[in-house]
Amino acid sequence: DVIRSKEIQIARLKLPILAEEQQIMEVINENSIIVLAGETGSGKTTQVPQFLYEAGYALKHQIAVTEPRRVAAISMSQRVAKEMNLSTKEVSYLIRFEGNVTDDTKIKFMTDGVLLKEIQTDFLLSKYSVVILDEAHERSVYTDILIGLLSRIVPLRNKKGNPLKLVIMSATLRLEDFTQNLRLFKAPPPVIKVETRQFPVTIHFNKRTNENYLKEAFNKIVKINTQLPEGGVLVFVTGQQEVISLVRKLRKAFPLRHKKNILKKNKDLIHKKDENEEDSNDEGIERGLKKALTSKKKIKIIPEINLDDYSIPGDSGIASDEDLSDIEDDETDVTTITNAQPLWTLPLYSLLPSFKQQKVFEDPPPGCRLCVVSTNVAETSLTIPNIKYVVDTGKTKVKLYDKVTGVTSYVVNWTSKASANQRAGRAGRLGPGHCYRLYSSAVFNDEFQDYSIPEIRQKPVDDLYLQMKCMNIDKIVNFPFPTAPDLMQLKSAQTRLETLGALNNKGQVTALGRAISKFPVLPRYGKMLALSHQQDLLPYTICMIAALSVQEVLLEVPIGQISLEERKETRQRWFSTRLQWAGRGNSLLLGDNMVLLRAVGAAEYAHSEGKLEVFCSENGLRHKAITEIRKLRIQLTGEIKKNVPDASVVVDPKLKPPEDLQAKLLRQILLAGMGDQVAKKIQPDEVKEGEDKAKFKYAYTANNMEEPVFLHQGSVLKKTLPEYVVYQEIYETNRMYMRGVTAVEPE
Ligand code: ADP
Ligand code: MG
Repeated sequence: DVIRSKEIQIARLKLPILAEEQQIMEVINENSIIVLAGETGSGKTTQVPQFLYEAGYALKHQIAVTEPRRVAAISMSQRVAKEMNLSTKEVSYLIRFEGNVTDDTKIKFMTDGVLLKEIQTDFLLSKYSVVILDEAHERSVYTDILIGLLSRIVPLRNKKGNPLKLVIMSATLRLEDFTQNLRLFKAPPPVIKVETRQFPVTIHFNKRTNENYLKEAFNKIVKINTQLPEGGVLVFVTGQQEVISLVRKLRKAFPLRHKKNILKKNKDLIHKKDENEEDSNDEGIERGLKKALTSKKKIKIIPEINLDDYSIPGDSGIASDEDLSDIEDDETDVTTITNAQPLWTLPLYSLLPSFKQQKVFEDPPPGCRLCVVSTNVAETSLTIPNIKYVVDTGKTKVKLYDKVTGVTSYVVNWTSKASANQRAGRAGRLGPGHCYRLYSSAVFNDEFQDYSIPEIRQKPVDDLYLQMKCMNIDKIVNFPFPTAPDLMQLKSAQTRLETLGALNNKGQVTALGRAISKFPVLPRYGKMLALSHQQDLLPYTICMIAALSVQEVLLEVPIGQISLEERKETRQRWFSTRLQWAGRGNSLLLGDNMVLLRAVGAAEYAHSEGKLEVFCSENGLRHKAITEIRKLRIQLTGEIKKNVPDASVVVDPKLKPPEDLQAKLLRQILLAGMGDQVAKKIQPDEVKEGEDKAKFKYAYTANNMEEPVFLHQGSVLKKTLPEYVVYQEIYETNRMYMRGVTAVEPE
């Protein structure tokens, strides 16, 4: 029996889904596959696993819950454990590099990619009595594939007399993709809709759309905090860097500790509609505002707050080059607004440590207004309580993949109408709310797509293709995808896999292909592992691939409350460390990858001395990335031992730097895995007439691309400028850059 605390019981009773428990459980008991749709915040993710647990679904088998985002898997498992008064041994999570699953686990939250890997070793998912696919409307590639696979697995389990239930949970968006898809489900599964108390949200469009949406957002929040009645603010921006920069400005404008925190009764504060705001015939604001200004309410001075809790992780120096281009940190022109209410400003994004994420669920200190600056994590995966105002930049950052050139780029685009409406909805949970859209209604109507494009239509499918082949899915074109991937994408995935030797020319998986697919890395890296075995280079390749598989290992620029000068100094110091790591000869030519190898090696050493964290921050390494790399190294080494019995590999904490010959071989191996990603230096005499030659100093021509690509800011190869290089990927910010670059000699 579950014994819940008083406080939790009260919170649960407020959730609309609780009243539907009996009906939901009846439908689940009577059907194998059901769709459960309900507005964000109705209680799907936190409650349905508990319903199933209490109905006995965890007695013999486990309950699986998949999430497309790691953040959600971790935070929801913690929340459910807390609500049920169970330990994390029983309500656990598992994501690619970490988890706390035990033999006693009853409810297991995991990322969708992890469940897909499990299917590879246990096609019938026999550990589980029920699989909940959460956030199905997000249409992540893995969730899409899981729906297709489970549509076949569920009937198989039924036939075996060991039934498996499938619950597809989704916000109320485009359910037809799942229910009206005859290839997927011949008989449409029953749909349960959870009704939610949703209060009206008044939408305010801007008259004009200002390009500088961050500035616009800042101004709007200033206005809300100085002129509008009580109520939390939730702001949507596009990425971690924007979150951090906006949070910092807001904290400067509305600091926590004021000498005189008395809201001035100031005539100037009378709400004039922003010049740049369309009419929304809304009187509520005016009334609320008058009330706020005429009430004699005083704001107390805030008691001492543990400012450690309030620090921003970015202060320790996280910045990804993906983000660098467009953000200039111009806090300098932010002045403190002295007669306003202090703003309790919190950041929220995926890579934020989970104990910091937890802050958004807690009440702000007395006297403060809550303001959460978030990426689209807060759109549907996490519901933040007590939000009355939503400020929507209308923007979202997507990683685009060019099918022809293979270039990945992060582009800031308009989001879809559906997601803008989700964002607005966040303001109407507590009572009537307001959503400020920092774009015009014309832009919304004409330029916003109705729905976001499913991920499977936008990214390379190589690893999926190979994984599916290994599950003996022969004709992948016939697979019951909720939305089928582009045919051309499927074809080029097959070609690339054939080139790698993972598939033979009949499209069948080779022994190498099976070996490759066991590794939790991209097929091209799997190939590099296979080749290294022949050359006795496995420990190095493992280390390199582990590093290449983790995002943002080497930080680019320190941010934080330091001066420009200090910034420049740190940048130079880091760069010279990297040069030193690169060494000379073939090591230097191994370039960025040599730097990664040595960085990991040095970090490993610091770890054994118990000084990892300091070491990372002094040398511009992201601490979390380094710990992920360690885990992946251990995991990869284990997989190799299992699959290649004659390989003698251990995770050597004191891995020596590779010798010159080894470095040379490593360059060849990189070429074998990334041979389709070669770039050639643009020579000065090749620069077009009239172009500035200096601009092309670090420029290369890649594949079949017309535009030049550049060595990135921190690349050690800037000193040598080799004629040919292979790169891990090309990404676009203000121009095209190559990441993970190594010099090669093409045959
Ligand atoms: P849904 O999945 O339908 O969007 P959830 O189950 O995620 O809804 O959320 C239900 C409620 O639980 C929300 O009001 C949310 O604020 C609350 N909640 C979720 N996680 C936490 C947490 N870690 N701490 C406090 N409240 C939480
Ligand atoms: Mg949810």
